[in-house]
Amino acid sequence: MVRQTIIRPEEEPEEEPRPRRTPRGGAGGEPPAITATGAGFPADDPESDDELRPKRLTDVVGQRKAVERLRIMLDATRKRKEPLGHLLLDGPPGLGKTTLATVIPRELGVEIQMASAPALTAPKDLLPYLTNAGHGTVLFIDEIHRLPPAVEEFLYPAMEDFRVDITLGDGLNARTINLKLQPFTIIGATTRSGMLTAPLRDRFVNREHLDFYDLDELVTIITRNAKKLRSEITPEAATEIARRSRGTPRKANNLLRWSRDYATSRGDGRITTEMCDRALEMLEVDNLGLERQDRRYLETLIGVFTGGPAGLQAIAHTMNVSPDTLEDEVEPYLLRSGLIQRTPRGRMITAAALTHLKIDPSDPRDSQQRKLF
Ligand code: ADP
Repeated sequence: MVRQTIIRPEEEPEEEPRPRRTPRGGAGGEPPAITATGAGFPADDPESDDELRPKRLTDVVGQRKAVERLRIMLDATRKRKEPLGHLLLDGPPGLGKTTLATVIPRELGVEIQMASAPALTAPKDLLPYLTNAGHGTVLFIDEIHRLPPAVEEFLYPAMEDFRVDITLGDGLNARTINLKLQPFTIIGATTRSGMLTAPLRDRFVNREHLDFYDLDELVTIITRNAKKLRSEITPEAATEIARRSRGTPRKANNLLRWSRDYATSRGDGRITTEMCDRALEMLEVDNLGLERQDRRYLETLIGVFTGGPAGLQAIAHTMNVSPDTLEDEVEPYLLRSGLIQRTPRGRMITAAALTHLKIDPSDPRDSQQRKLF
């Protein structure tokens, strides 16, 4: 049964609102299964970093401006007793889009349903989510840029007028039924806001872009999470992990967990600088936080494309990796670190990347070996 939670201003919910994952809905529109743990979150969540996810807005580190604006939106929503306007969160993976999307309904004391766009292959897959959305509740759609056009068009009237148009039968017998929905909020997350169609983008009244985190913010996250994991970590080791986390909390959490495992297996469990150095070296994460895939990208650009300019597709084909993976997961950090440039003619290597990889273009051995310049 769908539990509806009415938003009351300045009132804490009696219990934590439960997020629900609706199984890919059939045309029957069966209600979503509620799979919640005592803590209020699904036990079968595939994201292993769920236990480290901030639960309230005050626990969210960094993204100061976005958080400040969200506070105002939430405050206004509570005072007006209306649903929050649809919100689009964009930014590279692991920066906190899902985190904010789960924090917001908690702050409002409303339920959240979670869906992933690639699983919504037809309007009938989306329908149960829409009909089950109670007043003021949140429907989170991850990777919203991957909604098929038919599903996206089905969503437009739902977002604008809280109604869906369902066509029954075909040909001469076809008729359209307008189904009224409860006013609700869609929070969309995307790593590619540029791939969103203009009509979909325009239906989001609120948009927030999440950016990479600075060193201090990552140190705070790592130190807090080490406590949550009941691990001892020195401030120097926390800083070292932060430095190698590519400005991304999810990476920081992963490196922290790995360093903890390493320290437990090879030491007394304390994460010291020496332990984390050895752990990260074994993981092949270098002092800038580059992983094997990042270095392969740079080496391909240098070795195969003589430093560029080279197109994304060409680099991706040479590396045998999907262009989406490169564009979402590899390039944002390389661009931000000034290791590559994006020019109208393609991607180009920078002097900083050559220095980092210890390649000297003036050395004939290096330039011959790598066919540089
Ligand atoms: P995204 O949805 O953007 O891929 P997530 O929200 O899943 O990223 O974040 C990954 C993990 O990083 C979370 O589980 C959480 O532990 C951590 N995290 C993300 N943003 C923050 C933040 N602002 N403060 C503290 N931890 C964060």
